[in-house]
Amino acid sequence: MEYIKNNLDEVEERIQAACKRAGRDRSEVQLIAVSKTVEADVMNASIDFGVTDLGENRVQEIRRKYDDVKAAKWHLIGHLQTNKVKYIIDKVDLIHSVDSYRLAEEISKRAEKHDKIMSILLQVDMANEAQKFGVDSDEVKSLLDEILKLEHVKVEGLMFIAPFVSDPEEVRDYFKSMKNLFDELKANRHERLELKHLSMGMTNDFEVAIEEGATLLRVGTGVYGKRTYK
Ligand SMILES: *Cc1c(COP(=O)(O)O)cnc(C)c1O
Repeated sequence: MEYIKNNLDEVEERIQAACKRAGRDRSEVQLIAVSKTVEADVMNASIDFGVTDLGENRVQEIRRKYDDVKAAKWHLIGHLQTNKVKYIIDKVDLIHSVDSYRLAEEISKRAEKHDKIMSILLQVDMANEAQKFGVDSDEVKSLLDEILKLEHVKVEGLMFIAPFVSDPEEVRDYFKSMKNLFDELKANRHERLELKHLSMGMTNDFEVAIEEGATLLRVGTGVYGKRTYK
């Protein structure tokens, strides 16, 4: 699986170059290898080559692969249905896709049963793609205030999925708006609130995302190659 090593080296070079351009330290940016559709043996090879964080978008797939994958941090990056929270509450380290109070409430309830506090991000529909998931940017503040009442979730930041475009410059303004919103919310002090993560940037656009302040990159194709859906 030498190709995984080569891919990781290439992604690492791109990350470092973008950090340099942006005057940011490499340690401010964490790579999440998005392993959806990738089998456990390949994921394990990537872990051997230094991957520490895995991203998955489907609950069922996490359950299927979880026991076969070496120790790593798991990120749920896809839409989460309330009735599936119970299956992943003891498996994932960060849920990126919270976009309603009802979902946060269920996460808090399930986390309490496991005697833990679940870290979450709020997914923002910054590009106003009404058909997609995520909370409207002007509703993030009120959702955050509501979620702060829940004792077993900890909001650690925001997540954004940019529209797919051929030229990533086209989404730079969305990343900028995400960073502005993130900084605004950071001014909001609360004991259970420690905003530190801005999850944005995928294979096609992560350099622009780094330049605009991303801290978590979700890179699938760049690490594992083109996905084949069964
Ligand atoms: C699949 C996926 C990614 C990774 O996409 P690539 O273009 O393969 O890097 C990132 N974020 C989310 C939410 C995804 O579903």
